[in-house]
Amino acid sequence: MSNTIQATLIPGDGIGPEIVDATLLALDALGAPFVWDRQIAGLGGVQAEGDPLPKATLDSIRRTRLALKGPLETPSGGGYRSSNVRLREEFALYANLRPARTIVPGGRFDKVDLVVVRENLEGLYIGHEHYVQIDNDPHAVAMATGINTRAGSRRLLEYAFEHAVTTGRKKVTIVHKANIMKALTGIFLETGLELYERKYKGQFELDTVIIDACAMKLVLNPWQFDMLVTTNLFGDILSDLVAGLVGGLGMAPGANIGKDAAIFEAVHGSAPDIAGKGIANPTAIMLAAAMMLDHCKLPEMATRLRVAIDQTLNIDNIRTGDLGGKAGTADFAKAVVNRIQNG
Ligand code: NAD
Repeated sequence: MSNTIQATLIPGDGIGPEIVDATLLALDALGAPFVWDRQIAGLGGVQAEGDPLPKATLDSIRRTRLALKGPLETPSGGGYRSSNVRLREEFALYANLRPARTIVPGGRFDKVDLVVVRENLEGLYIGHEHYVQIDNDPHAVAMATGINTRAGSRRLLEYAFEHAVTTGRKKVTIVHKANIMKALTGIFLETGLELYERKYKGQFELDTVIIDACAMKLVLNPWQFDMLVTTNLFGDILSDLVAGLVGGLGMAPGANIGKDAAIFEAVHGSAPDIAGKGIANPTAIMLAAAMMLDHCKLPEMATRLRVAIDQTLNIDNIRTGDLGGKAGTADFAKAVVNRIQNG
């Protein structure tokens, strides 16, 4: 078939294979044209090949430039570096897009529809850290270096502003801490203000807010925001915060976008506490697959998938345990497929 799309599939660790299988059922029911190249990474990569990011996996993404990825396990405090961070670096996936939309009404906040755009490669996340020994204490002092560049900030801000225009967002808020980290986050703020004045003025409203105030405003009145754009570490924290506003990590998809590749994933981790039990909620990775369909210019399929998920949760009342329901992962997938096929 000429209109197939080659894509890399990384089922991932823990609950990854269960939620990815559920998503593949939904994509098949839609007739999505993906031809999958299955690869491993994370703990699965370490166990099979002694490498959390095997060469074959990197080669596959280099070829397809497109991947759907389950969560990958990363040891805390020691061990191998996060494969997720390495993938972002390897493919220069500079923009992290995390939409947060209320799907199940009646939670803490109804009708939230926000998107966080996070710079994905720079800032305090780059991992340039070291300890300084004093006397007998090898960890007497800990130091970290953050780096933000004008070019990196502009690339991300330009992506965010373009996305705001093409998706009809009315307001973009730059989140920073330029009152204290005047250079590190000041450069991001300054670049955003300059870019808006030069190229985007009038296309949407631009606002700025300090990160701590932003966190408070989000939990008091999330509707005052539309799109938040920010540096790496603040974006990491805020995107989990906004996921919490709409029902938790089980509902939050994410996209990592670069010039040459894009990787779609759920925001949550591998949930080792429930792995293998068949009870994980596949909604987040299904929504990530919908973002992937949008990215591949298949917006009708993306909408059909989102609508089927909405109907399953809100009309059929089929929900997994994290949402107070009794359905297993496979029951949920079956219900979504039924909605896709029968409306
Ligand atoms: P986690 O997101 O895996 O789990 C946190 C809690 O949420 C757990 O109680 C879990 O059962 C629950 N949960 C998560 N996803 C769920 C789902 N889809 N359905 C139902 N419940 C769900 O976070 P963690 O325990 O801090 O991390 C576990 C591992 O995942 C770590 O190794 C971490 O590094 C990794 N991780 C990977 C990614 C990624 O690949 N993008 C993201 C975050 C964490």
